[in-house]
Amino acid sequence: MKILLVEDEDGIASFAIKGLTAEGHQVERATTAGEAAEMALTRDYDLVILDLLLPDGNGRDVLARIRAFEPELPVIVVSALGDIDDKVELLDLGADDYLTKPYAFAELTARIRANSRQGRASSRELVVGDLELDTRTRVAKNGPGVAADLPSREFALLEYLMRHAGQVITRQQLLDAVWGFDFDTGSNVVDVYVGYLRRKLDRPGMPSIIETVRGAGYRVPS
Ligand code: CA
Repeated sequence: MKILLVEDEDGIASFAIKGLTAEGHQVERATTAGEAAEMALTRDYDLVILDLLLPDGNGRDVLARIRAFEPELPVIVVSALGDIDDKVELLDLGADDYLTKPYAFAELTARIRANSRQGRASSRELVVGDLELDTRTRVAKNGPGVAADLPSREFALLEYLMRHAGQVITRQQLLDAVWGFDFDTGSNVVDVYVGYLRRKLDRPGMPSIIETVRGAGYRVPS
């Protein structure tokens, strides 16, 4: 996909460009609101990743201009502002999705897949056995009567395991994919989050949705 990345911070931009390029995307970067609006409206992109706080203005104005001229272009807003009013306001303004900084790369790619034109049509729903995950609403279901609306890290963790169903994934791989590259590796955060998912989605008397493979990691059985 051809992606317009609007980001004024060099560190975040190079992290995102490196990862997205490695996944086969073509990325162009804008560093100001003026440049972003100009590029979005004069060139062809499949998706825009839009930072809100820009040196010459607010990403909201860029979003409004994109919506006025390119109503179908998917826009994912990224910002350090995490509060719910902002999120609602941005969705009202026409953002397709919202990601809070700092974000892990797996969360970004999950949002890109869920919001791309093809993604909207085809891979919105992940299914492994009885386990279903809607990548747009973040609702997970495990057979009749078991459903949960997942917060973003739990969603990213389950999505990663489901996309690699049948494979044993180490804690370190999960930390890198879901929490980001600089997370403390001594942390038991992965085990804690696997516990959250099991409590929400396991059915009584049935094997867990996430298998522990001793000394190795975790696996969603395929
Ligand atoms: Ca910024």
